[in-house]
Amino acid sequence: MAATKHIFVTGGVVSSLGKGLTSASIALLLLRRGYRVRLQKLDPYLNVDPGTMSPYQHGEVYVTRDGAETDLDLGHYERFTGIPCTRASNYTTGRIYSDVIARERRGDYLGKTVQVIPHITDEIKTAVRALDAKDVDVVITEIGGTVGDIESLPFLEAIRQFRQDAGRGNVLFIHITLVPYIKAARELKTKPSQQSVGILRTIGIIPDMLVCRCECPLEREHRDKLALFCNVERDLVIEERDVAHSIYEVPVALAAQDLDVYVLEKLNLHVNPLDLGDWNAMLQRLIAPQAGTVEIAVVGKYIGLQDAYKSIYEALAHGGIANDTGVSIRRVESEDIERDGAESRLGGAAGVLVPGGFGDRGIEGKIAAVQWAREQGVPFFGICLGMQCAVAEFARHVAGLAGANSREFVPDTPHPVIDLMADQKDVIDKGGTMRLGAYPCKLAEGSRARAAYGAAQVQERHRHRYEFNNRYRQRLEQAGLRVAGVYAERDLVEIVEAADHPWFVGCQFHPEFESTPLRAHPLFRDFIAAARRRAGAAPGAREQEGGTGA
Ligand code: GLN
Repeated sequence: MAATKHIFVTGGVVSSLGKGLTSASIALLLLRRGYRVRLQKLDPYLNVDPGTMSPYQHGEVYVTRDGAETDLDLGHYERFTGIPCTRASNYTTGRIYSDVIARERRGDYLGKTVQVIPHITDEIKTAVRALDAKDVDVVITEIGGTVGDIESLPFLEAIRQFRQDAGRGNVLFIHITLVPYIKAARELKTKPSQQSVGILRTIGIIPDMLVCRCECPLEREHRDKLALFCNVERDLVIEERDVAHSIYEVPVALAAQDLDVYVLEKLNLHVNPLDLGDWNAMLQRLIAPQAGTVEIAVVGKYIGLQDAYKSIYEALAHGGIANDTGVSIRRVESEDIERDGAESRLGGAAGVLVPGGFGDRGIEGKIAAVQWAREQGVPFFGICLGMQCAVAEFARHVAGLAGANSREFVPDTPHPVIDLMADQKDVIDKGGTMRLGAYPCKLAEGSRARAAYGAAQVQERHRHRYEFNNRYRQRLEQAGLRVAGVYAERDLVEIVEAADHPWFVGCQFHPEFESTPLRAHPLFRDFIAAARRRAGAAPGAREQEGGTGA
């Protein structure tokens, strides 16, 4: 196989065009035509990684197996392709600059003036090349931000140079743009796209392909105009309309316009047949589930934000696909539970999930949600902070440890059932210092987790500072909390279960990062299965038999 080929995806006109989804979709199509693909995102902000950013700023922080805190688009990459991302899959301006500056301090530049061009741009090109390998045919690199932003300029300059170095047939530029519909004029407008491509041209990049996000179909005249003004071949003006049901429809919609065929032709790669059989079958189950719909309450403190619990919502949908069941999500603000009580906010839900989080706001609402689910026999799934809340709840109300809490929230709690490990106590820096990435977890025989995974040991991804406090282990076990998973090397409790409950599982890791639509995570799969049983059994159940899943 010849050298690795590269595709660069830029975005124009506005942000939130779904560049990540489009990049992931293109990757899936190339994969299904027999090519080995890797994905990468370059983000133009100055944080070294998004790990220190609030969900309000950035949405979810996605964690790779090798322990990098990254952009949530990497979640789409993994979910669409099933290929794990690594530290090399996400670079920010901050990381690029800090590497260059560290080298400057070491004296590596031998007296030279260190400049954006060529030193920063060289570093960016090295970051792109980091994914080149013998067993990689195509690397897709998404450039974050919007063309025209000052801060993305070094990235665009670097990819311009990259094409110069690598040669035309080896590099493809895809520009994703918005073609807005103006209601008053009842027209689609191509001008913003023309201008955005104009900006790219002034920096020496002429896109090979335009992917046009639009609400209604592009007509012949629009394609002609875009091709002419943007200097793109007419066939390479691709329409990407909003999809009706699910983001997983995007690759199918792009394939219907042969986007992948054009990409391969432009890169001088053979057009092998496309096999989307299993993908289409998965979509069928997602869009029209045969076994009704269950409602899951997700109790968090960033519940109003679309992106804060992205992987959780996706993994719940995957659990639904595996059970041929639709999943509707009731987003519950934990502070509303504090104010109104659990029953008023959770009543009728077939399952309760408490996701990860930081800081004490809304904690008591989450603990009340755990108590409600445990006492009502409603399937409960606690993830990271959600597990920590479950341990505190169980300690307080079952083991009789009044005031039990995590030391994160109440430093002088009488019963710190969740606490910092010694190796975290002196950590001051916030960036990249949590327990991060994949760790092995040994599963206890007879546990729900072991039954779900069907394995004795698994690897799961972590992102937290606090841990289950082993000083309370015996006491909690005696009260009926089953330790279902441990990180044997350090004897850390990773999974707890309530033994006498239909399905009550808390895990210290983040299983949502390992779930894909074609292979639901076993814990999400079994959680939805339990919720389905609950919905079927509950009087006045909300399950809609043979529902459409709409
Ligand atoms: N705040 C908790 C900790 O640091 C939980 C983190 C999380 O939920 N990701 O341990």
